[in-house]
Amino acid sequence: MTKIGFIGLGIMGGPMAANLVKAGFEVTGYNRSQSKVDKLVAAGGHGAAGVAEAVRDADIVVTMLPDSPDVEAVVLGEAGVLAHAKEGALLIDCSTIRPDVSRAIAGRVRALDAPVSGGEQGAIEGTLSIMVGGADADFAAARDVLEAVGSTIMHVGAAGAGQTVKAANQLIVAGTIELVAESLVFLEAHDVDTDAAIKVLAGGLAGNRILDRKAAAMVKREFTPGFRVELHHKDLGIAQAAAREAGVVIPLGAVVAQLMASLKAQGHGGLDHGALLKLVAQLSGRE
Ligand code: NAD
Repeated sequence: MTKIGFIGLGIMGGPMAANLVKAGFEVTGYNRSQSKVDKLVAAGGHGAAGVAEAVRDADIVVTMLPDSPDVEAVVLGEAGVLAHAKEGALLIDCSTIRPDVSRAIAGRVRALDAPVSGGEQGAIEGTLSIMVGGADADFAAARDVLEAVGSTIMHVGAAGAGQTVKAANQLIVAGTIELVAESLVFLEAHDVDTDAAIKVLAGGLAGNRILDRKAAAMVKREFTPGFRVELHHKDLGIAQAAAREAGVVIPLGAVVAQLMASLKAQGHGGLDHGALLKLVAQLSGRE
């Protein structure tokens, strides 16, 4: 049986690790807060007291951590994956981090960057979209693991390419949330039945997953994450830096990045990114 060491059992990593257990893998997980480890154990996995213990016997190590420095520390740090995993173990980093950091890590360990899209619901259902960068042989070796957590799995290029595609994903998601937020505040200001409006808009060319999955909660001002503003702020920083590096301009992306930054600066970094609606309402003098 393939042994998996799983580091980072948060909103996304927790259900992903549980799905790996369900698919028949032997999963040993570690997270900084013990309650998340206990949840994995309750789901049939094993708990570890640190990264070293989680990865020692693993054939494959999966990381699902917040940001580039977290992945660097867990993979390259003294008590980390590089120091403690078996020779030849494959790292699948599902976190969303900077493409250059993914490339640097792939220069030190056998690794794939495999960021995901689909949110908490996609993680729970095992229907994530996964964009993978790295070598062909490593992609082939990771297939069973990726298929246990995702349903759309694409090898998009060499190391770092998965992260570049994920940056494009985050641009589209942020821009779409902002336009849905603006539309909802606009509809409310005209006293339109927003529930009916959401349904009819979802059936036409304006239809999108944000309308399907987030608009109802946005109307109710329910902003429990989901995907936190502070993480999306990080991702828009990655997208802006990568666009600059390529000499590409992303004007709408820059505006939505500023709006996300404002939300974070106002102390809302822990809310779901649907909270962009809060900002639109505030800018419109309606909150
Ligand atoms: P999260 O904060 O809920 O989970 C991260 C977990 O990692 C936390 O439980 C934290 O305690 C743990 N952690 C941090 N540093 C650690 C360390 N050194 N050792 C062990 N554990 C550590 O975040 P999340 O929402 O699950 O997101 C994880 C990654 O996935 C991020 O890069 C995010 O951008 C990306 N992502 C999130 C979503 C989403 O909808 N939440 C969707 C797609 C991608």
